[in-house]
Amino acid sequence: MTKFKRILIKLSGEALAGSKGVGFDYNTVMSVVEQLKQLVEQGTEIAVVIGGGNFWRGRSSEQMDRTKADQIGMLATVMNALYTAEICRSQGLNAVVQTPFQIGTMTEVFTKEKAIHYITNNTVVFFAGGTGHPFFSTDTGAALRGCEIEVDALLFAKNIDGVYDSDPKLNPSAKKFDQLTCKEILDKDLKVIDGTAASLCMEQKLPILVFGLNIENSIIKAVSGENIGTLITN
Ligand code: UDP
Repeated sequence: MTKFKRILIKLSGEALAGSKGVGFDYNTVMSVVEQLKQLVEQGTEIAVVIGGGNFWRGRSSEQMDRTKADQIGMLATVMNALYTAEICRSQGLNAVVQTPFQIGTMTEVFTKEKAIHYITNNTVVFFAGGTGHPFFSTDTGAALRGCEIEVDALLFAKNIDGVYDSDPKLNPSAKKFDQLTCKEILDKDLKVIDGTAASLCMEQKLPILVFGLNIENSIIKAVSGENIGTLITN
């Protein structure tokens, strides 16, 4: 019996890259896909948002126009979703990619109704292209789509096993939080999710679980309600 019935999983682009840091790490993606398959077979309804940081992040220089840089970033998220959805299909798990804008026949344009139809029929939906607008992040895209399709929780799978009061790579005595509120994230300016996403989750009372993707079966454990990572509530 799982704790959450309908979830949206946000994977950072870098998490997909594994230890390489760029591009895809096949074993990491396979491990994610195997967990998604097991969860769908158990009746969990799953949407996925993948960042783009393994291909592109922000501007390459101060001279570069932010809107153009962000458009490249949004397209990087489409590559990640197309790749991971294809690995799902190769493993016998139905998957579709929806974007907020048209990209010919490569993806479908997002609608709430179609997305809910898919996830309630054993199909994983990848929301690529973020919000479709520059000056936003895939964290915000994940929070927005999570609210729209009425998920029970947002699951943020990261390269780090939860939320800390400072960077544990720089500060060996950094303290990990078991639980936090969105307001604390905003007040303490913790960099775990961006402020726009935290505000939306606070307003909509959407819980967020932040955990490490590299822990074995971490997605399954998170959906089952095991005490991994940091739970962010209102
Ligand atoms: N992006 C955007 N609007 C959105 C979502 C993403 O412009 O709604 C762009 C932005 O340039 C961002 C990039 O896509 O830097 C990749 O997304 P993100 O940084 O959230 O990826 P992650 O850090 O999770 O890999």
